[in-house]
Amino acid sequence: DSHVAELDTSKLIITLAKNLKPVTEDVQFGETKTDHMLVINYEPETGWSAPEIKPYGPISLDPASSCFQYCPNVFEGMKAYLGPNGEARLFRPKKNMERLARSAERVALPPFDTEALLILIKRLVTIDARWIPARPGHSLYIRPTIIGTRSALGVAASDSAMMYVIMTPTGPYFKTDAKGISLLAVGSTVRSWPGGTGGHKLGLNYAPGFLPQRIAAKQGYSQILWLLGDDHKITEAGAMNFFVVVQRDDGDLDIITPPLDGTILPGLTRLSCLALLDAHTAHRTVLPNLPPTLRLHTHERPLTMPELAAWSAEGKLLEAFGVGTAVAVAPVGRIGWEGKDLVLPSENRGLGDVGRALLDRILDIQTGKVAWEDWSE
Ligand code: PMP
Repeated sequence: DSHVAELDTSKLIITLAKNLKPVTEDVQFGETKTDHMLVINYEPETGWSAPEIKPYGPISLDPASSCFQYCPNVFEGMKAYLGPNGEARLFRPKKNMERLARSAERVALPPFDTEALLILIKRLVTIDARWIPARPGHSLYIRPTIIGTRSALGVAASDSAMMYVIMTPTGPYFKTDAKGISLLAVGSTVRSWPGGTGGHKLGLNYAPGFLPQRIAAKQGYSQILWLLGDDHKITEAGAMNFFVVVQRDDGDLDIITPPLDGTILPGLTRLSCLALLDAHTAHRTVLPNLPPTLRLHTHERPLTMPELAAWSAEGKLLEAFGVGTAVAVAPVGRIGWEGKDLVLPSENRGLGDVGRALLDRILDIQTGKVAWEDWSE
């Protein structure tokens, strides 16, 4: 339909805030917002409206809007880092745009031009660049969101939508858990299932985890390790992908993460870790402070709790860590399962050698200290 407008960066309208908020060091992730936001609306007759960057503030919606009722809501999580010359850098943002488009398609929200959205996000980041913290380990978290705004109660796809992007400065995610997060392995409630939506970044995947998360916290665990099936397959840890490092008999290391079978969010950090590990084994010098002769064998394959418990008992389970945009790489100290705690060597010591090498290398690439392919732009 030729008169339905595409997302058009040349139509951008910028209205700057009259009073800028003070940027303080003491920020609360997700609570302190920057001065501006990006907003674009979609209507079935007219398509995408002129994009607007305007002062951060409330939005007004019809109470019958689809987003409040049937949850056709999708989002992304990405970060802007400060580069060596004070420039703003994004980490593999095209991948976030692709995942957002896939998520939108899954709940029948309108398609959009992913390149145009990225240009608009870069513009927003530039305008609010003073919010990118300079302190090491800190960054500016970016939350692109699309919600269904069809204002009718009939159970149907939302043919109108609002896309918006908001930003919040952030520091190290698990302040108290730098020495090792504790996970409670839970299989009685599940985050995802075969044929379900766990492989997409939909808002509706998260609320059902809040009650189990609260119960886990009461038992002293910081996150849930989501299991699936009678064989206690591990899927993800909280909102992180999960890795283990296992000692092999030949002296090499196996690095295992569950496969993308539709029950696991295809994380960018997961993808990046796998690529760096494979590159290290091929070229020997990619990951810092690991013996150049150390061979790291990556596996994307099902991983179960009984396997983990057996490796742990044999002293072969060297490391477990969660990976994601928020944490980059977070060490796992212990895992509660069937009434017992499986304790990892990193408990109270923080990341092991492989997790540490990945974290350091990823931070170097994100902050532009080290160039790696086209990962930082
Ligand atoms: N799993 C879930 C459920 C998540 O919400 C996230 C955060 N997006 C991740 C894994 C990690 O993905 P990424 O590395 O792309 O941040």
